[in-house]
Amino acid sequence: MTSIATEAPDIQTTTSARSLIENAVWDGKLFDGDWRSASNAIPIREPATGELLGNVGAFNPADMSSAVARARDGQSEWASWPNDKRAAVMREAARLLEASRKDVVDLIVRETGGVRGKGEVEIQGSIDELYYSAALLIQPEGELLPSPDPRRLSIARRVPIGIVGVIAPWNFPMLLAMRSVAPAIALGNAVILKPDPQTSIVGGAILARMFELAGLPKGVFTVTNGGADVGEALVEAAGVRMITFTGSTAVGRRVGEVAGRNLKRVALELGGKSPFIVLDDADLDAAASAGAWGSFLHQGQICMASGRHIVQRKVADDYIELLARKAAALPVGDPFRENVAIGPIINAKQIERVHKIVGDTVAAGAELAAGGTFEGLYYKPTVLARVASGMPAYELEIFGPVAPVVIVEDEEEAIRVANDTEYGLSGAVQTGSLERGLRVARQIRSGLVHINDQTIHDMAGIPFGGSGASGNGSRFGSTTNHDEFTEWQWMTIGSEPTRYPF
Ligand code: NAD
Repeated sequence: MTSIATEAPDIQTTTSARSLIENAVWDGKLFDGDWRSASNAIPIREPATGELLGNVGAFNPADMSSAVARARDGQSEWASWPNDKRAAVMREAARLLEASRKDVVDLIVRETGGVRGKGEVEIQGSIDELYYSAALLIQPEGELLPSPDPRRLSIARRVPIGIVGVIAPWNFPMLLAMRSVAPAIALGNAVILKPDPQTSIVGGAILARMFELAGLPKGVFTVTNGGADVGEALVEAAGVRMITFTGSTAVGRRVGEVAGRNLKRVALELGGKSPFIVLDDADLDAAASAGAWGSFLHQGQICMASGRHIVQRKVADDYIELLARKAAALPVGDPFRENVAIGPIINAKQIERVHKIVGDTVAAGAELAAGGTFEGLYYKPTVLARVASGMPAYELEIFGPVAPVVIVEDEEEAIRVANDTEYGLSGAVQTGSLERGLRVARQIRSGLVHINDQTIHDMAGIPFGGSGASGNGSRFGSTTNHDEFTEWQWMTIGSEPTRYPF
């Protein structure tokens, strides 16, 4: 078995930070405040090479009620800690992650197959989430309400929800877990995290080690490694009061149904088919660069990826040529050992799906302007020109490095095509006119929209989320986190007992 720690001998960090990535701590184990040996293991392989990175302990769904009992005990202690002490734990967790940045980025690159820049964005976003969560604890915790009786105070106060279940995907496993885990914990909840079984080291084990070393009380953070059966057990579990789920729309619908039946609050962050509009007065070089980034970053395996390039006819030929030239020039290969822009697709099933969508779209009449081939898990950046309604690449979320280009006549048609999808996560407009940009952007039905930029943006401190099939209206971000991860309690206070007529 490969030891990640021994493969990264140039670590220049503190002792405690270094131990964040020591395999011996977590290999074959599960974390519920203590590291416990598991009877089964889940092997984690590097998609670029197939090399074994380590084994995480497999969680048995039958053990969920004991995990919940430990989380309940941990949560009641944690919620009683003063805010400044809780904030200090969150800041210490951020510091530990910061101090082992290089090693964790290496792991993100190897485990997810993303390039180094993507890994750096992911760790910085995770660190930011921790610091922003600490900052939530200096915000007001409630409101003083008007009281009809001057002898009684009437207060609305925010209280923790209790135990929050977090289910995360494999594409940004650390960040997409952290954006729920950090605020939920900071605000006094316990969290049971279920990472994706393909990425449970950076998506679970490293977070567990980080919180352990940061001094989080036992039971406040638990990692339950496994697949759909463990996820279902978490959503069903009595005592888990809220579920946040980031993943596909199909699974999100199922999670929403089960959570609804169990009367749980549920935050669903799902798939996307985000429009990238190029109007005829856009700077075409900038637009092609932004469009390539929006469709090819992390091999297109991003919920906010630009899913349709909607281009006005007057500039369409030039735009397609520029985009195809960029696609053909992007180096593809192992992102850990080579300097490339495009790494591997996460698994063989996914690459087959991408290739089928490309093939079926060409068979339906689209033109292949670049790419369209693959070797192993490496799919060439692909441009599909003249894609039209009804073709698979027009309709489906692809989750691969494919840019479908749809030609439109005018602004009205661009808006109509942009909204011709059940998804509503992100959108972007490229134009030389701010007035046109605003006019078009305002009419795109999505949770996020950018003028003269591309569709992939997220950061701590913004209200992140989608509409339609992209989510159920939850928003993660600095101020919205208070709404997501606490509930209101109305409290009235009087120094004298109230007297009643009977
Ligand atoms: P997925 O839905 O297959 O899996 C997501 C997680 O759900 C994994 O941890 C998986 O093990 C778990 N899971 C699977 N079946 C389950 C069940 N029945 N009950 C409970 N949990 C279950 O998604 P994926 O393939 O990992 O990720 C890709 C999808 O996620 C894409 O559609 C992408 O757009 C979406 N995504 C959305 C966002 C966002 O913020 N909106 C971010 C990243 C990815």
